[in-house]
Amino acid sequence: MSEYSKKTCYDCGIRKPQPEMRRVTETKINHSHGYSHKTKKTTTSRAYSNSRKVFVCQPCAQKRTDSSNSNLGFLILVVCVVAFLLWI
Ligand SMILES: [Zn+2]
Repeated sequence: MSEYSKKTCYDCGIRKPQPEMRRVTETKINHSHGYSHKTKKTTTSRAYSNSRKVFVCQPCAQKRTDSSNSNLGFLILVVCVVAFLLWI
């Protein structure tokens, strides 16, 4: 009766069994310390880390892949245009 544990999508919040989820590394830059918990526990290096493993559902994982690909494509396009302008 042990089912897979359900994971919550980091992007859209949907809950699905773990095999249907993708694990990604979410990188976050901490600009403020507002996130820190006001507990009496000592601050660990873990809490200070900028990247952590999160789960996202398949559509959100696909969206992340698409956006990163399009960003890369756009970057390459910009570089090509700049190189072309510098060339002439
Ligand atoms: Zn999702």
